[in-house]
Amino acid sequence: VAPTSAIAPILADLRLRCAAPLPVLRRVADAMASGMRAGLADDGAGELKMIPSHVYSLPTGNETGLFYALDLGGTNFRVLRVQLGGKDKRIIDTEFEQVSIPREIMHGITEDLFDFIASGLSRFVATEGDKFHLPQGRKRELGFTFSFPVNQTSIDSGILIKWTKGFAVSGTAGKDVVACLNAAMERQGLDMRVSALVNDTVGTLAGARYWDDDVMVAVILGTGTNACYIQRTEAIPKLQHLKLETGNTIINTEWGAFSDGLPLTEFDREMDDESINPGEQIFEKTISGMYLGEIVRRVLVKMAEVSDLFGHSFPKKLAEPFVLRTPHLCAMQQDTSDNLGEVESILSDVIGVSQASLLARRVTVEVSDCIIRRGGRLAGAGIIGILEKMENDSRGHIFGRRTVVAMDGGLYEKYPQYRRYMKEAVAELLGPERSNRIAIEHTKDGSGIGAALLAAANSKYA
Ligand code: ADP
Repeated sequence: VAPTSAIAPILADLRLRCAAPLPVLRRVADAMASGMRAGLADDGAGELKMIPSHVYSLPTGNETGLFYALDLGGTNFRVLRVQLGGKDKRIIDTEFEQVSIPREIMHGITEDLFDFIASGLSRFVATEGDKFHLPQGRKRELGFTFSFPVNQTSIDSGILIKWTKGFAVSGTAGKDVVACLNAAMERQGLDMRVSALVNDTVGTLAGARYWDDDVMVAVILGTGTNACYIQRTEAIPKLQHLKLETGNTIINTEWGAFSDGLPLTEFDREMDDESINPGEQIFEKTISGMYLGEIVRRVLVKMAEVSDLFGHSFPKKLAEPFVLRTPHLCAMQQDTSDNLGEVESILSDVIGVSQASLLARRVTVEVSDCIIRRGGRLAGAGIIGILEKMENDSRGHIFGRRTVVAMDGGLYEKYPQYRRYMKEAVAELLGPERSNRIAIEHTKDGSGIGAALLAAANSKYA
């Protein structure tokens, strides 16, 4: 095994390739903006799907009454109710519950899944107390957040393209998931119907905008990533045939699929090659929580192979894909002690290197920082790409006034360095004057309430 100095060129090369200096960020932002334009012109014209939400009524704050929301996107579903009191009282009360979905239901048939959900909803409705009021003669209305690929043709219908994220329910692909849920609620004798079907990013934007009219963009940075924004209806060429009234709508960019001009390394390419979706979701694989730890692991593997950084023999656990996770990187980066004791204990627990040398600890932190910094900076460039596209649609509309970008997701929320790198990149790209007008704000769990607000803004009784 070569001496530890063999890692110096690997580290230098990594620093260089992951630096994402301002010109690279500019190129990425410009490519994001043109990808957005291509996707709005024609389905399949570019990397970005630019999916219309068919939301033509955004929450204004004037909504009143009782509304429900259901969020299905993982191994749990969440149900929520909210009593809205209009401009002054806003959210009078809200309650929620979470139900975990058994494996046999996730691998079963359509009717069983939707019956399971509808019966959970029904139990939740049964606990509705005095603080919540449904006007006489009305059905309860529900906003349905559904985080799987759907072909949506109206605010209250969408055909499932395929299940993802561990769901393998037979018979649902090709069906309208709103019709499936409405039918199951009817079978349960539950007096409720779906008024809005929304993607979680769209729900986040609606939830944030309810409190602040200047919210124009929502970005989720969690296990995966996505972004959506407010778009003028008249500037969506692929919807011209619908002869929409002029106004605002929300476009779901599905920006995780972007790849144009990203500064990638051999480690990214190898991770992509070995992934379940090679060649897809490259932006997501570069900036989101699921992958950042894995990229770092791959760099450490190469270092361990050419040097004795982690001792004379290769640490076996390091060979296991995805053992090193983003929260580990985060914990290591919070260690400001001289001897990096926390880094030592993580290296010991996670990759089985006991008493890693101080050099090994420092190198691990530096590799993590390179990957986190690149991820944060590229996320920032993506946000600027969206703002640029909006500004080009009508000058002064974004940079000439206060504009808010609503952020959510565990990675953004819990990783201070990532957040800082992202904001630094945004500030560098904007320059001091325009930076003052762009606010990047965290909205916690806005997507649940957002779906209920969209049900209210699109109420059948309005
Ligand atoms: P999801 O995206 O899965 O719906 P979240 O928005 O809560 O859920 O994001 C979870 C992701 O956030 C994790 O996959 C992880 O990458 C990241 N994360 C969670 N906790 C931390 C932490 N302490 N430090 C850094 N990143 C974290």
